Amino acid sequence: MFPSEVRKEQRDRAAQWMDKHWPEPRTCPICGTNSWNVGDVVSTPLAAGSLDGPVSVYFPVGCLTCGHTYFFDALIIGAIEGGRIEPYP
Ligand SMILES: [Zn+2]
Repeated sequence: MFPSEVRKEQRDRAAQWMDKHWPEPRTCPICGTNSWNVGDVVSTPLAAGSLDGPVSVYFPVGCLTCGHTYFFDALIIGAIEGGRIEPYP
């Protein structure tokens, strides 16, 4: 599977989780609009300066009007499986 297909599948899983767990209306607490985008998975190293060590993995869900962004743990919401992360090309 191509990395772009993996990312789409992960975004779809995150969006499905949002639909199940985040009730409407999903009003932005900053600007009051209701238009969100599920972005690609992001990871952050757990130790400063260590890029090849363990990471935390999150899915960003950002307001399309003001940019306010929530980050959800990708493992907890089931957007990725078993901690496996597909690298970006
Ligand atoms: Zn907003």
